[in-house]
Amino acid sequence: MRDKFDREINYLRVSITDRCNLHCNYCRPKEGLSLKGHDDILRYEEIIKVVSIAVKMGLIKVRVTGGEPLLRRGFIDFLAELNSIEGLQDISLTTNGILLEKFAESIYRAGVHRINISLDSLDKVKYARITNGGNLDAVFRGIAKVHEVGFSPIKINTVALKDFNEDEVLSFAQLAVDKPFQVRFIELMPVGQAGSDNGEDYLPVGQIIQKINSYYELEPLAGKKNKSDGPAKIFKIKGGCGEIGFINPVSSHFCATCNRLRLTADGKLRACLLKDEEIDLRKTLRENCSDTELEKLIREAILLKPKQHDLACIDRHLKKCHREMSSIGG
Ligand code: SAM
Repeated sequence: MRDKFDREINYLRVSITDRCNLHCNYCRPKEGLSLKGHDDILRYEEIIKVVSIAVKMGLIKVRVTGGEPLLRRGFIDFLAELNSIEGLQDISLTTNGILLEKFAESIYRAGVHRINISLDSLDKVKYARITNGGNLDAVFRGIAKVHEVGFSPIKINTVALKDFNEDEVLSFAQLAVDKPFQVRFIELMPVGQAGSDNGEDYLPVGQIIQKINSYYELEPLAGKKNKSDGPAKIFKIKGGCGEIGFINPVSSHFCATCNRLRLTADGKLRACLLKDEEIDLRKTLRENCSDTELEKLIREAILLKPKQHDLACIDRHLKKCHREMSSIGG
């Protein structure tokens, strides 16, 4: 699957629900979200149909996300079914970790061994503040469990937030020294209605690298990059067991190597996170479409992929997409 700019598109992020058990300040608007009804959300068999066709077209990698994917009933069987699609080489899961202790073993048994856990603070009070009531101990128990069960890699994703977790950068780095995890800092993107419009929470990862560099010796892993690292710049911390990564979609975008599409919980195929243009698959799926019709829509979506997002051209903090991250699938 090649887009207009000759990029190979082989990666799909699938949001299986727009519901979440946390309410992170920058991710979900304070006024609340109008959640989709049961019938608006793609059924598992519809998602499997889309993925199976896309795999025949060249898709090799799927990440299951949300909302909070562990909240949707039946998700373990869904993961097992994904895992049985011939040709799909890589399945991973993104979660906030709250329910992970309970589900880790079944997720592993369903054939998903790569996991990303979102964690914006290592401090219980701050964690509860940013997530509006989240229990950090539950996340720590989830992380310990995936480690025990044998998931690999285990990635901890931290959104870099000015005046919120800037002071925890070294504690996160220490986590990558002590444990065999990949701890990754990600720049805050201007998505949805939540968060500030003027970028006051935005913290460029360059500043984080500087801070870590002044305490630790970072050894770039260039050349030894794993194909699961995606756009992250990965380093080893000298003497540590884990790795540290930086993802900078805002300060230095990586659109030239973007290989992704996103399938929203309500069945829209989205070519770029920061562009609101979408192709509706749900309607066609429910009209009992043929595989060829679906294939045509997938190709249409790929052709919508812009050369790059335009954060760099205009004010980079102006909201570029109006959907919430939790309904698109982060
Ligand atoms: N509930 C799951 C979780 O917490 O990982 C999956 C969905 S959540 C939307 C996926 C990721 O998107 C989380 O790591 C979250 O921090 C991140 N995210 C949400 N809004 C963001 C934004 N505006 N910029 C950057 N990352 C964002």
